[in-house]
Amino acid sequence: MIGERTNITGSKRFEKLIKENRYDEALQVARDQVEGGANVIDVNMDEGLIDGVAAMRRFLNLIASEPDIARVPVMIDSSKFEVIEAGLEVAQGKSIVNSISLKEGEAAFLEHARIVRRFGAAVVVMCFDESGQAVTVEHKVAIAERSFRLLTEVAGFDPTDIIFDPNILAIATGIEEHADYAIAFIEATREIKRRCPGARISGGVSNLSFSFRGNDTVREAMHAAFLYHAIAAGMDMGIVNAGQLAVYDEIPADLKELVEDVLFNRRPDATDRLVTFAETVKKKGKSEKAEGAWRSLPVAERLAHALVVGDVTYIDEDTEEARLALGHPLSVIEGPLMAGMAVVGDLFGSGKMFLPQVVKSARVMKQAVAHLVPFIEAEKARSGEAGRPKGKIVIATVKGDVHDIGKNIVGVILACNGWQVIDLGVMVPSATILKSAREMQVDIIGVSGLITPSLDEMVHVAKEMEREGFELPLLIGGATTSRVHTAVKIAPHYHAPVVHVLDASRSVPAVNNLLSDNERDRFLAEVREDQAKVRAQFEEHQGAKEYISLAEARANKIPIDRKAEPPVTPKSTGVFTYRNFPLSELLPYIDWTPFFQSWELAGRFPKILDDPKVGAQATQLYNDARAILDRMVKEQWVHAHGVAAIWPANTVDDDDIEVYGDLARHKVIGRFHTMRQQRKKAAGQPNNALADFLAPKGIPDFVGGFAVTAGHGTDEKVKQFEAAGDDYSAILVKALSDRLAEAFAEKMHEIVRQELWGFEKERFSNEDLIKEKYQGIRPAPGYPACPDHTEKPELFRLLDATRHTGITLSEGLAMWPAASVSGLYFAHPQGKYFGIGRVGKDQIEDLARRKGQTTAWMERWLGSNLNYDPA
Ligand code: SAH
Repeated sequence: MIGERTNITGSKRFEKLIKENRYDEALQVARDQVEGGANVIDVNMDEGLIDGVAAMRRFLNLIASEPDIARVPVMIDSSKFEVIEAGLEVAQGKSIVNSISLKEGEAAFLEHARIVRRFGAAVVVMCFDESGQAVTVEHKVAIAERSFRLLTEVAGFDPTDIIFDPNILAIATGIEEHADYAIAFIEATREIKRRCPGARISGGVSNLSFSFRGNDTVREAMHAAFLYHAIAAGMDMGIVNAGQLAVYDEIPADLKELVEDVLFNRRPDATDRLVTFAETVKKKGKSEKAEGAWRSLPVAERLAHALVVGDVTYIDEDTEEARLALGHPLSVIEGPLMAGMAVVGDLFGSGKMFLPQVVKSARVMKQAVAHLVPFIEAEKARSGEAGRPKGKIVIATVKGDVHDIGKNIVGVILACNGWQVIDLGVMVPSATILKSAREMQVDIIGVSGLITPSLDEMVHVAKEMEREGFELPLLIGGATTSRVHTAVKIAPHYHAPVVHVLDASRSVPAVNNLLSDNERDRFLAEVREDQAKVRAQFEEHQGAKEYISLAEARANKIPIDRKAEPPVTPKSTGVFTYRNFPLSELLPYIDWTPFFQSWELAGRFPKILDDPKVGAQATQLYNDARAILDRMVKEQWVHAHGVAAIWPANTVDDDDIEVYGDLARHKVIGRFHTMRQQRKKAAGQPNNALADFLAPKGIPDFVGGFAVTAGHGTDEKVKQFEAAGDDYSAILVKALSDRLAEAFAEKMHEIVRQELWGFEKERFSNEDLIKEKYQGIRPAPGYPACPDHTEKPELFRLLDATRHTGITLSEGLAMWPAASVSGLYFAHPQGKYFGIGRVGKDQIEDLARRKGQTTAWMERWLGSNLNYDPA
């Protein structure tokens, strides 16, 4: 989505703001576009009375210092090349030039192209040539091909930096020649993508509906339908009013038909009919379908409807009716229920349904099946046969890890798609996974994990599969896993396919491809080729980064003037426990954004509730979540326990933190070992270690620690819901327990800052807490500043965390219950989060020595942080 509102030629409001020098408000227009989902913003200052060069320069400079806008690239849009050059000179990062064309011949085209390339920008090429604007498919394609050749062969462009705009022109204008304009764009798109491999297609979408200015209902329907078909033909991006896009499937059927008649020029009176309809829309607004009308549909359609909308109200009676009509209980599953799930699968696959809806559908399915099971059992007893699933997959969260929200969602989704899913749960040792795979004769093994040590465990699973002579594909998924890690670290250990699955939505196509006779070879060839490429890039990259020795890194600490910025002395020291912390006090501290992320709904809370694409779904999910959360709190489904401590402490031996049991600092009670960045930094940039935020011996300083959980009781509740076939509520309870635990961490940190350490006077809003506007940090082991999980046992020992909170550590050093958070506190104003990145063998050896462990042991725990290949 390329945001169009920062374009003077398209937006009266933006034009006014620029003319009146109200740049602050103009920036807000850009920000709204980004928040509305724009992935790029188009900036255009072409207006007779405006100095385009100055305005472009000023606006892009302002954008550069707004992180929430500058995170998307700018499309520098002008018909004057001098304005484009001015934009290129000030734009930060990679930008896109909109546009160049052959309008003035090849020489000018190439000159402009070379300048664009020198700035490293991508370029939009309009389908214009010396004879003017291309309106037919042939002309558009011919111009694209000619430009493509010039750019790649003469101007040295990378094909992926070329974007063609085959001109979206207005349709339904009443002029006959215009009737095929939409088709021409779509067909040209298909052809250009075929003939110019690597190049992208864009277009200004609003032009299309120009004749319906003032009628947003019709315009939005036209845009949605057009995009739907153009994207299918290969369109990659479009200039749109981000934040105001309708969803194809939500266009009322009558309007959709009229719109598509116009788009595809399907009947001579198409425009007239749409115009007539447009009048009625203007007058009375959208027509509403009668609630409950679906109850009079035939039973198969009622079942499909119930599945799609996730409504269990009539599921028992409808299922029973279908059973009686079809004669066999299995026929109901294999017939209407599977057909209904196929509809759900298709809608999901094509982006018209979202994860929470699918999981709700699964609940309807389960309830229908539960109704049928006694009949199936009775029949089986008679005939000895049962139904056959599409294929079998065994899934598990690997040994040492307890996180399974993502894996559970994958399980539900695959089951909806006709797969038999054997879910082995969490902390499953490799031997158990392989044994089940053998015994159950599965087709695929899927492993998942959330914390970094799980990556190593996955490597182990792959090696074991190789050793035991397995041939089954291995699927890799979960938050810390990645395409790169899978290609570089896992796949080389197993000769059969190892496939990384980015998120739950990708699991279905991956599994289907793997088991399809037709697609399997192509899919695997693609995966292998991609993995080979990733490995090659990885190696190239490896060498590219420069590292310095640990000694040099230590010599480049952040310089903190302890006189000017002395340590923050706490009001109290010691260990403080909070048993059964009131859940209701945690509610205001919940950060909802990650909750939506866990359901693969992208966007910031609370804006996401009004999002044009996922808003309705997000609101529904939020309401369901609030209802369950209400009960969790009122009926005490879960219990929250926490412990926090402040200890006298000092930095010793550069990177370690010595913890004392007394204010006189005679009694050493513990020691933390922090890691230090070893990447070669730019001049003036320090090589950080958390220990640097603390004063060295001789200057009294203090460090804190905490562990909190809101997960006691979660599993019991989850099991109850699962037993009732309600995976949706089960997953909600889990995700909400996580939210409460994070909220507890936030609340505890506030208690520490305001009461125990006692340096903070100001009251922060929840929003500012989420943005971490306060002084001090709470780095958590396993996160980038302290990737070493093996620090957790020391933290737990000092806090006596297990006794106070009931949280235990697994072999992989995951915390159980899963809804737990732990970390250290630093109060110094200079304290900030950073990433350790990769480190050298000298540091690993040093760390191992400091911790009394072997180098190999340390390498195993820090596998993802090594800048070398451990022998
Ligand atoms: N509001 C979020 C909070 C969790 S993420 C939620 O509800 O999910 C932010 C936390 O992650 C920080 O408070 C810190 O504990 C940890 N964290 C983030 N970046 C870190 C880093 N670079 N090093 C160590 N810990 C980090």
